[in-house]
Amino acid sequence: MKDCIFCKIVAGEIPSYTVYEDDVVKAFLDISQGTPGHTLVIPKKHVPNIFEYDEELAAQVFSRIPKIARAVKESNPDIQGMNIVNNNGQIAYQSVFHSHFHLVPRYTANDDFGMTFKDNSNKYDADQLKAIQESIVAKMGD
Ligand code: AMP
Ligand code: ZN
Repeated sequence: MKDCIFCKIVAGEIPSYTVYEDDVVKAFLDISQGTPGHTLVIPKKHVPNIFEYDEELAAQVFSRIPKIARAVKESNPDIQGMNIVNNNGQIAYQSVFHSHFHLVPRYTANDDFGMTFKDNSNKYDADQLKAIQESIVAKMGD
């Protein structure tokens, strides 16, 4: 897609530190290196966000992530774990609108990555949870 920075990386028009690629995906170092080894996995096909994947593309992309994640982890003995993050929409911190999965190696509790969400479980009773459940199930389709 024109004017998409990740399509330009796929096309080789912008350089990247590629660690893996095949016919479906490209994996390259995130320029921000949130923690050392921070890697992005993207479908080569332009798809803006998770809502636009078809099942085949999802299966193809997801099936490649464990192999890439293992290679990143094994590249550095200090890596203790990994967060895999996929932001969808500006409100969810997406800044490049070509879908991508962040592989963020974790080293210590105080390294440069953080992710928190509140525990609001005390604010929902069973009826409220049931209403939310039903509104999602109603949209599930096949
Ligand atoms: P997000 O905020 O989830 O959309 O993540 C976009 C990521 O793309 C950010 O972490 C950026 O550091 C990264 N990024 C932007 N441009 C480049 C580039 N040319 N090469 C590698 N990573 C990039
Ligand atoms: Zn693109």
